[in-house]
Amino acid sequence: MSSLLRFNVVSEAFKRRPIEVSVPTERPSEFFGKYVFDRKKMYQYLPAKVYEIMIDVMENGTTLDMATADAVAEGMKRWAMELGATHITHWFQPLTEGTAEKHDGFVEHDGKGGMVEEFTGKQLVQQEPDASSFPSGGIRSTFEARGYSAWDPASPVFVIGDTLMIPTIFISYTGEALDYKAPLKKALHAVDKAATEVAQFFYPDVRKVICNLGWEQEYFLVDEAIYAARPDLVMTGRTLLGHESAKNQQMDDHYFGSIPERVVAFMRDLEIQALELGIPCKTRHNEAAPNQFELAPIFEETNLAVDHNMLLMMLMKKVARKHGFRCLLHEKPFAGINGSGKHNNWSLSTDTGILLHGPGKTPLDNLRFITFIVETLMAVWKYNGLLKASIVSATNAHRLGANEAPPAIISSFLGKQLSEVLEHICDSEDSEFARIPELSRSSKHGIHLDIPQIPELLIDNTDRNRTSPFAFTGNRFEFRAVGSEANCASAMIALNAAVADALMDFKARVDALVGQGVEKMQAILSIVRQDIRTCKPIHFDGNGYSEEWKQEAARRGLDVEASCPLVIDRYLDDASVEMFRRTHVFTRAELEARNEIKWETYTKKIQIEARIFGDLCLNHVIPVATRYQSALIDNVHRVSRIFPAETAAKLSANNISLIQQIAEHASYITEHVEKLVDARKVANRIESEREKAIAYHDTVAPLIEDIRYHADKLELIVDDEIWPLPKYREMLFIC
Ligand code: ADP
Ligand code: MG
Repeated sequence: MSSLLRFNVVSEAFKRRPIEVSVPTERPSEFFGKYVFDRKKMYQYLPAKVYEIMIDVMENGTTLDMATADAVAEGMKRWAMELGATHITHWFQPLTEGTAEKHDGFVEHDGKGGMVEEFTGKQLVQQEPDASSFPSGGIRSTFEARGYSAWDPASPVFVIGDTLMIPTIFISYTGEALDYKAPLKKALHAVDKAATEVAQFFYPDVRKVICNLGWEQEYFLVDEAIYAARPDLVMTGRTLLGHESAKNQQMDDHYFGSIPERVVAFMRDLEIQALELGIPCKTRHNEAAPNQFELAPIFEETNLAVDHNMLLMMLMKKVARKHGFRCLLHEKPFAGINGSGKHNNWSLSTDTGILLHGPGKTPLDNLRFITFIVETLMAVWKYNGLLKASIVSATNAHRLGANEAPPAIISSFLGKQLSEVLEHICDSEDSEFARIPELSRSSKHGIHLDIPQIPELLIDNTDRNRTSPFAFTGNRFEFRAVGSEANCASAMIALNAAVADALMDFKARVDALVGQGVEKMQAILSIVRQDIRTCKPIHFDGNGYSEEWKQEAARRGLDVEASCPLVIDRYLDDASVEMFRRTHVFTRAELEARNEIKWETYTKKIQIEARIFGDLCLNHVIPVATRYQSALIDNVHRVSRIFPAETAAKLSANNISLIQQIAEHASYITEHVEKLVDARKVANRIESEREKAIAYHDTVAPLIEDIRYHADKLELIVDDEIWPLPKYREMLFIC
């Protein structure tokens, strides 16, 4: 008997052809933002006075009065209804993965027995979704039962299908954040304030600093029929078993290879829809692993970029289904090949158009550049454990430390040129600067510093290191450790708060020196020099995967913890709590509540994996292995009936060995699945979420890997015809 399901789904997948995509007649620049209530539409649909107030709200964060909100809602409704919208929803980012929405129709009684379409300022500004089922880490039981969502005017509303989507924050009635957006906005505010003050040392006309984020989203596509035949993919987003295929990524023939037709159709469709929603898609290509791809937009202001990433992930899943694919955003869907990340390209720039992390042309610009680089490194050095905590998860744990980007130790790659510049500044003495008279003359500000030796820093941004989790890439840092499935906000909150804190501290120290009569630029340089020395341990340009680095990093005092539940502790270190308090991003109560959720989520993920895995072993693997073993036993018996004993023994030697191997693997699996169940039971009895997560990490998760080895061996032994689960070669090479 053959495994009909597997053969059917594989042949179905093979036969699938690309789907025709209806391409708009306009150019992308014309249909970009078609479904977004952007400034152009605001201008068109709002009274002039209301438009002006809205711009002020968006640019300066002023508060919106109810009369204006009513007028804005009216304009939005008119615009949305022209696009066929009948519903609105507040769209928010609770502490689960993904986004949440609850749709309400525009329709209302008109008071005369009929209905009208209505949408008020109040509905726009605030909603009370029934929040009881969203994770709150106990915040709501401690504080107040209700939560509400509040409009974020900095992120424009948009229409999807028949629904007007309104980006909102989600907070408890007592003001604690229950989402990612509220603290992100606080962290962005903190970094704006701190960076503006430091930028004003150099350019007094700076009024605002904007945080830029350009994410690169990696993902896998798997044919939908094949996906459906893999319960582990359906339930957990990753394969819990499956032997590596003979060929995977060792030929490096997939990276930047020509994109398969069905995939191109998917990408085209996705890009059109994303562009219509205002997501500035720019780059698409094959990634290193088979069936792995990447999409990257042009960078945007971080709050908007995060919303766009959440929206894009939602869109990817939807469009993939239309094309007969499933889009896997899990960080490690397949063992033995690369996992997926989401590099967060991050930088700060001013309202006057200066990229603070980019080198400039004048000595002043370059001191500014060095200052922002060094203070970023100070933040990363001081909070390296916290930054790691901001990107760990049960799913990303399969990438971290698993010999692929990134290692479970946060360090920063700077490249040859920047390293030399920092080294040079560090080694020089204040008095040396006076010895470069022609250069100090060339500076309008009369700065006596040696940076003019490199009047125009041309940083070579091809100087890359793929093993570094936080790499400088010419005019930005690339936080590469972020997981593909993650909400970038988590990393952006920690990073921006930490950088804000470092900049605040920097400014205070410079001010103190200036107060003692030191010339301002000398003061800056002197603090920068100190800080280069202080944060030196975070700088590492070598191979982040090597065993020596782990030891070296520990010697340097960097956080080398690899256990996800323990890494999460870093949020509650005194230094972190204080930093988040100083920057007004989180209170201790919020941090504690969020950690409860993190541990609980970790446990649940591993728990679900353990259950599915046990089922797969007992209901799929063991039965087919036993069936094949019986066939072998049968064969051995028959052979012994035909041939003399000695010949029969010789002829059956191989089969007998297989029978034995199957028996050994099968009994190992059965026995250890039982242990897995027991380990779960023990862990489940633990009261504390933290301790429970630790137990799941230490006792449950390793057993899954351990048993998997034997199940994968059986896949190699058992007759291909009866193996029920689609194999790696089928999941990875058909599209
Ligand atoms: P890579 O070579 O690493 O693949 P790309 O050139 O494709 O990088 O850019 C990756 C992302 O980085 C894009 O979203 C791009 O817009 C963004 N990016 C470029 N410059 C900056 C910057 N200064 N700050 C933030 N993001 C940036
Ligand atoms: Mg990149």
